[in-house]
Amino acid sequence: MRIDLHTHSTASDGTSTPAQLVAEAAAAGLDVVGLTDHDTTAGWAPAIAALPPGLRLVPGAELSCRWFGTDPPIALHLLAYLFDAEEPALRDELAAVRGARETRAEKIIDLLRADGIDVRWDEVRERAGGGTVGRPHIAQALMRLGLVDSVSAAFAPEWLGRRYRLPKQDIEVFRALTLVRHAGGVPVFAHPRATVRGRVVPDELIVQMAAQGLFGLEVDHTDHSPEERVHVRGLAAELGLVVTGSSDYHGNNKTVRLGANLTSPEVFERIVGEGRMALPAMS
Ligand code: AMP
Ligand code: ZN
Ligand code: FE
Ligand code: FE
Repeated sequence: MRIDLHTHSTASDGTSTPAQLVAEAAAAGLDVVGLTDHDTTAGWAPAIAALPPGLRLVPGAELSCRWFGTDPPIALHLLAYLFDAEEPALRDELAAVRGARETRAEKIIDLLRADGIDVRWDEVRERAGGGTVGRPHIAQALMRLGLVDSVSAAFAPEWLGRRYRLPKQDIEVFRALTLVRHAGGVPVFAHPRATVRGRVVPDELIVQMAAQGLFGLEVDHTDHSPEERVHVRGLAAELGLVVTGSSDYHGNNKTVRLGANLTSPEVFERIVGEGRMALPAMS
């Protein structure tokens, strides 16, 4: 079984539509694909409608979270699977995060424009296509201007990585855990040790998260070094958390391919058993 539990579509900052993504997943030989767009469930219905025969979809989301235990606070990502998308508390929180992302993008664009860089909000909004707005959409606008060669290059310190970076209004991490569990979802900490992305939270926080309902840790992820994987795997064993592996596919916005890292069938079954929502029927 080939199981990839973390991907993004055009519902957030991937470049494949949800329908294209499930077709690509089948073509890549996956048996199970998790759709985990940033702060939205908008891709679920079109992905389910387009499910190729034999492919299973795990509906999910990647929640933008923050831990306020240090100054400045540290951003982190929480994957949530098989939750009730209509549960009001979580649904409203996700809507608020998406709204704040738009305000933040407009402010980043203001900073760029103040330096004479002709990025416009209507272009960025159009690139997001009604989905969750993220820095990759601003990165694409910088590419169009010929200022960077790739989306990744736009995350360099002189661009969106530092000079034109503004914090998002994220969900406090323990509140996020509570909201996900309340909605029947299964929370898994995405790339918890990805030091290449910036500061990471201490192990003590992961211990506390485990006590507050965290179910798993994403171990096999391109942004984890071999040493980081060993460390996170050990921590999961200590805390009784499941371990997942996934590609974090973003289409052409990143170089990683579907199925680059995989999750075991045993862990997949445990996640399915833990979630309130049943897997969508296979076609
Ligand atoms: P945002 O959610 O708006 O803060 O933007 C962060 C998103 O940008 C991440 O979820 C990644 O999808 C993407 N991203 C971050 N760093 C890079 C990079 N070096 N290359 C390509 N995409 C990146
Ligand atoms: Zn992303
Ligand atoms: Fe992430
Ligand atoms: Fe992701």
